[in-house]
Amino acid sequence: MEDKKKFLADLRAIWRGIIGDEGGHCPCCDRWGKIYPRSLNETMARSLVWLAHHSANGDWVDVPKRAPRWLVRSNQLPTLRWWGLVERLDTEDTTKKHSGLWRATKRGLLFAQNRLQVPKKVYTYNAEVERFSDELIAIEDCVGSFDYSAVMESNT
Ligand SMILES: [Zn+2]
Repeated sequence: MEDKKKFLADLRAIWRGIIGDEGGHCPCCDRWGKIYPRSLNETMARSLVWLAHHSANGDWVDVPKRAPRWLVRSNQLPTLRWWGLVERLDTEDTTKKHSGLWRATKRGLLFAQNRLQVPKKVYTYNAEVERFSDELIAIEDCVGSFDYSAVMESNT
């Protein structure tokens, strides 16, 4: 029993190494595994700023209807959820896949207002967050010159 535990622990350690590096196929189920780093990019930052501006009072925003086309097309809000910066209203209608209602979280508002830094990268595996980078970024690092007053004003 102890041998088996040790064997599995060793296997896991090896597999962690593989998915944390180049990635590979699991020897048991042949599924592809790799930890993917995602960086907070400018489009994501601008999407968040737009959403934060329109949901600063806590209201849900109908993104497909109200958001500018570049935001809808680039579809970066689901990715921003890895950082806990936005949230989507769960739909109770099972015939619909997802609701289009989004809002910035408290963290998302603070980040959009340049009052909070977040990890630059998130590492995901199997649709879950593995870890975050130690390196932090502010919204001004993502969007360069930018007028935060619009977002600030909507929060007062
Ligand atoms: Zn497997």
